[in-house]
Amino acid sequence: MAKRIGVHLGTAGGASNAIERAREIGANTLQIFSASPRTWRAPKIDPKQCERMRELRAALDVGPLVIHTSYLVNVCSQSADVRNKSVAAFRGEVERALALGAEYLVLHPGSWKGLTRDEGLKLAADSIQRAIDGLPWQGTGFHILIENTAGAEFSLGGSFEQVAELVARLRTAAPVGVCLDTCHTHVAGYDMVSTEGYQETMRQAGATVGFDAVRVWHCNDAKAERGSKLDRHEHIGQGTMGVEPFRWLLNDKHFAHCAFIAETPYDEPGDDERNVRVLKSMVK
Ligand SMILES: [Zn+2]
Ligand SMILES: [Zn+2]
Repeated sequence: MAKRIGVHLGTAGGASNAIERAREIGANTLQIFSASPRTWRAPKIDPKQCERMRELRAALDVGPLVIHTSYLVNVCSQSADVRNKSVAAFRGEVERALALGAEYLVLHPGSWKGLTRDEGLKLAADSIQRAIDGLPWQGTGFHILIENTAGAEFSLGGSFEQVAELVARLRTAAPVGVCLDTCHTHVAGYDMVSTEGYQETMRQAGATVGFDAVRVWHCNDAKAERGSKLDRHEHIGQGTMGVEPFRWLLNDKHFAHCAFIAETPYDEPGDDERNVRVLKSMVK
């Protein structure tokens, strides 16, 4: 099977348009939002759109389909009100993901500001379980992917250990896996840039979240320095990471099963296509 390489795409005119767009730019996987990422209320998806999506994906061999959760969702908020809204919104995310036939739904674990990290972890696990309670995910292959974050203060998931802890708490109750982001890993302080650093970072990933649990790598270069905790994505090879880490990652046998998806900036027309082409050119 061909290596799965794609990019986050817009869904103007309907989610299914993104499938055709993916193929046009040489991608065979993609990530989308299933609703506006900055509003709480999301409309239900037209069943015709879901059908079209399945047809196009089968015809064009595009997959996995990855959906990124809205930025508003904070499943470990200290505020019960925000948490309840987040659970309802995340439930909607799972419903739409299942309707669209998505394999993966990526979630940032959230901010535990005002609490202890351990309280945040417990709330995040509880909220995710509440959100998926009773939904028909069994037998679909659908997974919620917990994404590692840039490691800003109070943000859960800034280390592989924290991601692994949340996944371990959910493992028996929910279909969970992991999404790792190169930019987040780098700015959180892990070394992916030197040869030995890359080896050691991946050894740590294997020892914590485990290689098999990682289903998606977000491939983003970083505008900020390693350890800065500043999450600013850059075009592949043009940031503080450079091209080599991406070459190693794309050819790393531990991640042969993964999809690689860029969430790089869109500064000018063709940027999405260019980043996909750069990633594809690195595959040996
Ligand atoms: Zn990401
Ligand atoms: Zn990011």
